[in-house]
Amino acid sequence: MLALAGYPLGIRCMFLDRSAAAPGAQVAPILTGDLEDASRLAALAACSDVVTFDWENISGEALRPLEKLTRVRPPRAALEVSQDRLSEKALFSRLRIPVAAHAAIDSKEQLIRAARKQGLPGVLKTRRLGYDGKGQFVLRDATRIDEAWAAIGGEGLIYEKFQEFSREISIVGARSATGQTVFYPLSANTHGGGILRYSIAPFANPRLERGAQVYLKRVMNALDYVGVLTIEFFVVGGRLVANEMAPRVHNSGHWTIEGCVTSQFENHLRAICDLPLGSTRALGHAAMINFLGTMPSRERLLGLDGLAFHDYGKEPRPGRKLGHCTVLKSRKSERNSALADALKLIQWT
Ligand code: AMP
Repeated sequence: MLALAGYPLGIRCMFLDRSAAAPGAQVAPILTGDLEDASRLAALAACSDVVTFDWENISGEALRPLEKLTRVRPPRAALEVSQDRLSEKALFSRLRIPVAAHAAIDSKEQLIRAARKQGLPGVLKTRRLGYDGKGQFVLRDATRIDEAWAAIGGEGLIYEKFQEFSREISIVGARSATGQTVFYPLSANTHGGGILRYSIAPFANPRLERGAQVYLKRVMNALDYVGVLTIEFFVVGGRLVANEMAPRVHNSGHWTIEGCVTSQFENHLRAICDLPLGSTRALGHAAMINFLGTMPSRERLLGLDGLAFHDYGKEPRPGRKLGHCTVLKSRKSERNSALADALKLIQWT
């Protein structure tokens, strides 16, 4: 999606991926190799004006040498903070952005203490390398501590108080090297088993939107950020509680391809290539639905008016994000019924 956004601007992408069958290979040249292979990374940097990433589980250390060869954007510091749920929460707290009560966990005894101190229910998560609900255990009562520990126990965990949220929302924005910032309208996100299922946007709540923009800008400025940055929030009692940040284009921003004047992908490229950022104005009411595990019928979905279909060309696997579709309508009620119609044709496996 980045490469596709780049073509009209005259920006050519090249990818590094472990597999030659990676989605990016359908639309741009690809280098294959380990994402932390120094020689492959150097080869990529040697032919690039700027190197970026759309996945945050690459070590900052692997990227460090590239900074001598080319520009790496977003900054490595943003990547490193986002890789560890504890340092992410520390950054949020330092910037006076509310987070769930939490504790670092390296032993079962610490978990027992944290469950008592922070209270139940809570979520035990791996601090690093967890995404899409992987490496998480919802602890509802103390009798299940052994089970939680058997499932994901070890060092480098975090225990968070479970948030009784009314909504999960996210804000996507972009910042350029000159400090220009733009913010997309909020998305309201529905997850299942920790994986995003669908988003609706704009989620019109001026008060929450203002708050989310202030928080996102604080993080951007603190990190001297360049590129697209996302923060996911829980809405608890009408207030924002930050869950996590992603230093990249984000799944909850996929609706911006059809739904906004400038997509998150284009604005990411504009930001990292020192071009002026584009308008984030919404063109209507959008819903984006992920295809998880199984591709739905293209014929049937394309039969729905105003639907855009995106097939990433991936091998199906349970829970894997294989593609998405977006419906865009001028009225919210029309969007809601188009979403309901599309949902009838999609099965998450
Ligand atoms: P994460 O990987 O942290 O984004 O978690 C994936 C999903 O699990 C979130 O989008 C929530 O739906 C749920 N979740 C994670 N942490 C919590 C929490 N502290 N309280 C309630 N739900 C949570």
